[in-house]
Amino acid sequence: MPDPGLFGRLHRGGGRTRFCGREGPLSSDRRGYERDPGGGLMDEAVPSEPLPFAEILRSRVWLRLVLGQIYEFQSTIFQPVGGMDMIARAFVREIGSLIRYNAKVTAIKQDDKHVTVTYVDARTGGAPMTAAADWCLCTIPLSVLDQIDLDVGAPMMNAINAVPYGAAAKIGLQFKRRFWEQDERIYGGITYTDLPIWQIGYPNTNYGGPGKGVLLGAYVFDSPYAYEFTALPPEDRLKKAIE
Ligand SMILES: Cc1cc2nc3c(=O)[nH]c(=O)nc-3n(C[C@H](O)[C@H](O)[C@H](O)COP(=O)(O)OP(=O)(O)OC[C@H]3O[C@@H](n4cnc5c(N)ncnc54)[C@H](O)[C@@H]3O)c2cc1C
Repeated sequence: MPDPGLFGRLHRGGGRTRFCGREGPLSSDRRGYERDPGGGLMDEAVPSEPLPFAEILRSRVWLRLVLGQIYEFQSTIFQPVGGMDMIARAFVREIGSLIRYNAKVTAIKQDDKHVTVTYVDARTGGAPMTAAADWCLCTIPLSVLDQIDLDVGAPMMNAINAVPYGAAAKIGLQFKRRFWEQDERIYGGITYTDLPIWQIGYPNTNYGGPGKGVLLGAYVFDSPYAYEFTALPPEDRLKKAIE
């Protein structure tokens, strides 16, 4: 019988249950074959066996696949050419001479007229330094701010203390070669797992490039695993992700 083509096969296949649930050309058109289709004198394609439906449900993969549909993660997502760093670099380009690096703020004091910020050099330590101004626009995270010596009233202090932060960890892993492309034929995209790392993100630039490549080796948030990762020092996070 002539091959009716993909649409014919889908049409004849009917409902979803048959499409997902059974071994055969319909399901293998989507999920792949035990032995791939070829031509000429090659053996016939052998369909692969679908995972049991219950196993797919149990994997909770659905929770991950719908991430892009979360209200605050709108589907239209752009990325700066060259990476997120380019935003910070643009600030440096415009106002670079005003930026003082490695200034770790230890106190923020204010009176009716001025604000005085005390800071130390985060690399060398040394004697505290101060900077005074009419106003201070402070963007230190509240979970750090509540550990700093502050001149604020009780309602403000209560508000600073009241805001919890989510735990989240991302881990970049650099490898000597892009083995996911060379060995697995994976170009960009995400692998969702049920492991503590949650997901692996593949670089969507420089496909097929020789030499080193960086993977997002873990991206985990809002879960006990996120607390496990964020409680570890960076070198132990790396070990855990590679494991
Ligand atoms: C792993 C992870 C993944 C995330 N993914 C996303 C995402 O995909 N999309 C998204 O929208 N958001 C994401 N977020 C959240 C987003 O990164 C944060 O909401 C955002 O960066 C917060 O910005 P911020 O300026 O308030 O704080 P931060 O970006 O944390 O900046 C605070 C700055 O204050 C500095 N600082 C701290 N203490 C002091 C001190 N004593 N003196 C001087 N400076 C100090 C820090 O060094 C830092 O530079 C993610 C967060 C994490 C951790």
